[in-house]
Amino acid sequence: MATTERVIAEDAIRVLDHGFVRLDGSMATDLSVVNAARVSFARRKDEMDEGDEGLIRFLMRDRHGTPFEHNSFRFHVRAPIFVAREWFRHRVGSFNEFSMRYAKATDDFYVPEAEDVRSQVGKPGAYSFEPVDEDLAERTREELREVYEHAYETYTRLVEAGVARELARAVMPVGAYTEFFWTVNARALMNFVSLRAAETAQREIRRYAEAVEQFFAQKMPVTHAAFVAANRVAP
Ligand SMILES: Cc1cc2nc3c(=O)[nH]c(=O)nc-3n(C[C@H](O)[C@H](O)[C@H](O)COP(=O)(O)OP(=O)(O)OC[C@H]3O[C@@H](n4cnc5c(N)ncnc54)[C@H](O)[C@@H]3O)c2cc1C
Repeated sequence: MATTERVIAEDAIRVLDHGFVRLDGSMATDLSVVNAARVSFARRKDEMDEGDEGLIRFLMRDRHGTPFEHNSFRFHVRAPIFVAREWFRHRVGSFNEFSMRYAKATDDFYVPEAEDVRSQVGKPGAYSFEPVDEDLAERTREELREVYEHAYETYTRLVEAGVARELARAVMPVGAYTEFFWTVNARALMNFVSLRAAETAQREIRRYAEAVEQFFAQKMPVTHAAFVAANRVAP
């Protein structure tokens, strides 16, 4: 399959075989949390000190969540459709997504690394995901590639025959990549990371959540440390 070469920005964190998370912009500092809380006493700080760090830890621990809402992160994400579907369930935040009505579908599809092909053992709520033998891993990757190729050929044939993109896209599998912008505040971001960078989350979205968390830790290190100390429970 011919894969379209796309330029991935240098500041992006690459995820899976064709995906990335990039922080497109932010208005996010630990000080915003402190000042949101201190406005209750008509106080404002220009610089963080140790007392402010303690205040953030207190707010986190006692789940005073609203001071963590006065900031924002705008992410640009490229992920398989099945990952995006899980992501879009997070209602607190804003999304804009690539449109397969207006633009031609991508020919990039997710093929897991052999070590990521896994079996599912156990019962709902308590599954464990075990490695499979090499043959099955390779067969899975090959079968995925075949389906993707067939789907993309069919899509292209239908579009070239005059069928609208909005209809032809019905043949596209959920392993196809999509792109979206996600704007979110730190409170909702922590909720996302808490749920999706957890062992219980699907491995693929987990990798994205770990990338999101790296950007969060860079921009709001004290808040991030307090979140980790509070057992990664969002306030
Ligand atoms: C491991 C895992 C398995 C999952 N399995 C399934 C599944 O099988 N089927 C399925 O449908 N979904 C599933 N989900 C999705 C899950 O149910 C949530 O939709 C998703 O995780 C978003 O979480 P959230 O509502 O906390 O986030 P957000 O929508 O971002 O909301 C953030 C917070 O705002 C508050 N809030 C938002 N909206 C409301 C509201 N309407 N009423 C009250 N409070 C609100 C809540 O406190 C919420 O935690 C799964 C999620 C995970 C992590």
